[in-house]
Amino acid sequence: MPHRSANPDFLARSLAAVWHPCTQMKHHEQLPLVPIKRGEGAWLYDMDGRRYLDGISSWWVNLFGHANPRIGNALKQQLDTLEHVMLAGFTHEPVVELSERLAALTGHRLGHAFYASDGASATEIALKMSAHYWRNHGQPEKNRFVSIQGSYHGETVGALAVTDVALFRDAYAPLVRAGSCVPSPDARNALPFETAVDVARRAAAALDAHLAEHAGQTAALIVEPLVQCASGMAMYDPEYLRLAREICKRHQVHLIADEIAVGCGRSGTFFACEQAGIWPDFLLLSKGISGGYLPLSIVLTTDDVFKAFYDDDTARGFLHSHSYTGNPLACRAALATLDIFVQDDVIAANRRKSARLKDAFSAAVGAHPQVRHLRQQGMILAFDVDGAPAGFARRFFGAALERELLLRPIGNTVYTMPPYIVSDDEIAHLAGQTAAALEASLG
Ligand SMILES: *Cc1c(COP(=O)(O)O)cnc(C)c1O
Repeated sequence: MPHRSANPDFLARSLAAVWHPCTQMKHHEQLPLVPIKRGEGAWLYDMDGRRYLDGISSWWVNLFGHANPRIGNALKQQLDTLEHVMLAGFTHEPVVELSERLAALTGHRLGHAFYASDGASATEIALKMSAHYWRNHGQPEKNRFVSIQGSYHGETVGALAVTDVALFRDAYAPLVRAGSCVPSPDARNALPFETAVDVARRAAAALDAHLAEHAGQTAALIVEPLVQCASGMAMYDPEYLRLAREICKRHQVHLIADEIAVGCGRSGTFFACEQAGIWPDFLLLSKGISGGYLPLSIVLTTDDVFKAFYDDDTARGFLHSHSYTGNPLACRAALATLDIFVQDDVIAANRRKSARLKDAFSAAVGAHPQVRHLRQQGMILAFDVDGAPAGFARRFFGAALERELLLRPIGNTVYTMPPYIVSDDEIAHLAGQTAAALEASLG
């Protein structure tokens, strides 16, 4: 377990006053909080002068490092110009520029951007828009949703309808109108002699069969393209997305691509859907879109969907709103983030970095007898630990912190999703200390 802090009073104040997310608070009787003072590049520094390489980009949001001067300076200018204005009836430069740039990145196939502040809200918006689209088209019975086994699309009551993680859903099951789940194309499901493409085709056939029966009541299928992150970095072949696109079209069901985690270059292309050569009816962004600076989420959609709401009748419009919809500071952070993608040719640079990551981890843990399914998709790398002891994830987390590394396994799956500015030396630290923490937490 990690060190004893020099600031016990501060930690006690935090535990008394702050209810931490995704946490059984009682576990903090044993596991100390880590009080972070500042960040710089890929590193976080605590109040006791220790440092940690941020191997998970602070829950997958940070792209270009902490205290990035380019994003910081853009925000400082925006702060002195306009911090916020409501987006109903008003507009402003950052939101228009961001919407246009995102539309251009989709080749103008998804030319309408709707804004919110967090990922779960983007999911809710897409679900509501999809069902409302069918209602406006005289098919109100198309109001159910399909997701993939092991899906994660957020934890608000609406988003839980399409989130298939028992630990997050079971306690709230009576509140949730659960959707249907279809088999996952997770490549680890391959039978002997099956390839990842075979698994994708098998899963797509199951989707086709489900929709053949239920399309009349189904508004949309929601997927996490290429990687189902929160349920343990399940990776799958783009063939599934190609087939799902075709199947949804044939059955007149929307396809929602939740790129909240895999978008913004994380998968190796700016949008993960690009690798399948498809465009969904709705594409969700959050997490990395603001560079990890401010809460922001965006639902991109098509002319077809937009037109279904465009009418003299108020009630046919999409009346959803949040107080901070389209916040200028968050949009400015996103614009500065997109600037870096262009100026530094980030997608190409990441190709070299992800090859480095692969080499470093193959050398460090690839031959470990308990390491299974070492896998990678762009700037996400993961492996499963066979025969891990009970409480492995928390043991590993503590052992990694002791080695200047922030990693937080999901069950027995260890993964890294580093900021894109990670250097070769930092990749060596990441892989080397992962191997050491693994050894320490298995022993
Ligand atoms: C994180 C995540 C969400 C939820 O986003 P929040 O901002 O945490 O509400 C939804 N979908 C996916 C794929 C995610 O990774």
